[in-house]
Amino acid sequence: MSFSVSQFKQQFPLFSQPENRDLVYLDNAATTQKPAVVIDAIRDFYLHSNANTHRSSHRLARQATAMVERVRAQAAAFLGTGNVREVIFTRGATEGLNLLANSLCAELAPGDEVVLSTAEHHANLVPWQMAAARHQLHIRYVPDERGIPQFDRLVEVLGPRTRIVSLTAGSNALGFRADLAQIRQMLAGRDLRWVVDAAQLAAHEPIDVQEIGCDFLVCSAHKFYGPSGIGLLFGREQWLQQMPPWQGGGEMIADVDLHSSHYADLPHKFEAGTSSLAAIAGLGACLEFLQSQDRAAMAVHEQQLLRTLHEQVGKLPGMELLSSAENNLGILAFSDSRFVPVDLMHWLDGKDIAVRVGHHCAQPLIRATGHSATLRASLAAYNSEQDVARFVAAVAEFLDQLDSAENAPTHVEPEVAEGWPIDDLSVLDIEALRSRRGWQERYRLLMQWSKAIAAKPIIRSPEHLVQGCESSAWLVHRQLGEKHYFALDSDSRVVKGLGAFLLSQLNGKSLEEVRSTDLEALFTEFEFDKHLSPSRSNGFYALMQRAMAILEQQK
Ligand code: PLP
Repeated sequence: MSFSVSQFKQQFPLFSQPENRDLVYLDNAATTQKPAVVIDAIRDFYLHSNANTHRSSHRLARQATAMVERVRAQAAAFLGTGNVREVIFTRGATEGLNLLANSLCAELAPGDEVVLSTAEHHANLVPWQMAAARHQLHIRYVPDERGIPQFDRLVEVLGPRTRIVSLTAGSNALGFRADLAQIRQMLAGRDLRWVVDAAQLAAHEPIDVQEIGCDFLVCSAHKFYGPSGIGLLFGREQWLQQMPPWQGGGEMIADVDLHSSHYADLPHKFEAGTSSLAAIAGLGACLEFLQSQDRAAMAVHEQQLLRTLHEQVGKLPGMELLSSAENNLGILAFSDSRFVPVDLMHWLDGKDIAVRVGHHCAQPLIRATGHSATLRASLAAYNSEQDVARFVAAVAEFLDQLDSAENAPTHVEPEVAEGWPIDDLSVLDIEALRSRRGWQERYRLLMQWSKAIAAKPIIRSPEHLVQGCESSAWLVHRQLGEKHYFALDSDSRVVKGLGAFLLSQLNGKSLEEVRSTDLEALFTEFEFDKHLSPSRSNGFYALMQRAMAILEQQK
């Protein structure tokens, strides 16, 4: 077999919808798009065989039950265990980890230890922290260097009280992989349970729990082209037998009386309540779909894209990457002191390129890298060289806009009174904005205008925070005689640029003059509504509404 990106992508109907024809989707570590076979399977389940499973034996119930158990057998093969009793359906990796933290830790004694790493997704941190508080356990972390776990030093934190080691197979924030074979060696012969968080790994290569040698493994179908709301927990039968269930309810019992219950056999003991049946049907189609692909060729394609992405973005002036293309599950990550990542994210969104910014539910890791947020572009097999080229070109354009703003004079002549300066915005010429042809040029000017807004740490307090701005913005007001003045601060260049535009239309005017200024008309004239992402436009309107509300209170 071999791999053709265009043929692969054609199987994902989202990309052929008219509104998505130009979409470059690089947010795959968050969730992947779904092939038609998965969408059809979900629809078909509701159309032809919707019924609750196990509890009833009419025709549809039998059909639904058979489907669930058939998909379980497929999932067992997908995970590399031949034993369906070792496969638990969960809502996703998060639920699998919560199940383990609850059930495994219930058996531990105070002072026992759980080993985690600084690179874990919150789903593999918080449930253990909660269990540790409940059972007086200690959490120890694999030694790290600036947040990056040194998995080869895992033995340093293993001790006689280590009962559980729960580690990611690959970071969802920076992409680096753990060497599972090495971890297996280090854990060999120890009386502990090894949990692997394969939420990212499962999207990029086949899983074989026998080869990995772990006791438990979790993943979420939505990360590997399957539906959301369904995930898999693999657990060795002998351990699952010993563990208490974590949730009680229907389906997980054999017999109930008023004072006690007997639990069902594996795997149903861990599946309380009605499962996500349609999602299980979709998962079945997804597993068949994956089986029909040349996964090795898909991985080669993804790795080639990842190298190009790192090489080309790494070459952009002043760019320092936080990720490396080596040993990486398909993620490019960076942060840059010249801008807040959310500004670049909106710029990319304006070009229909979807990426993610933030801490990616891995706050300890991102903080340890010295940042509060990064921009992450994450790949799937339907991404192409053209997607990478469009992303790189858009980032380069953004940096170019920044550069021209850097060279612009700073217009700030603060008049300090009552603790905060009124920025001199008189130099911002609306005619200059009017004369700029095209959005690119206007955006460039807005970035330059952002420099007219001086930093004002003094106004950054909750009462001045404007809700509705995705990037924090603070707005303050002062009246001098008949005239009104506002001042603003934000980390975002774009918010500052838009704010400078707004305040240039308000400052130094009387209430009547402000009332006769049609800000919305200007916003439309300059096509901000057309080119700014909805959250940026909403941010602008939020600032405008706050300013107007403040003015109305002055009457
Ligand atoms: N673990 C890792 C490494 C992840 O990347 C994610 C999701 O991003 C999770 C766990 C949680 O997965 P879910 O939200 O599907 O439960």
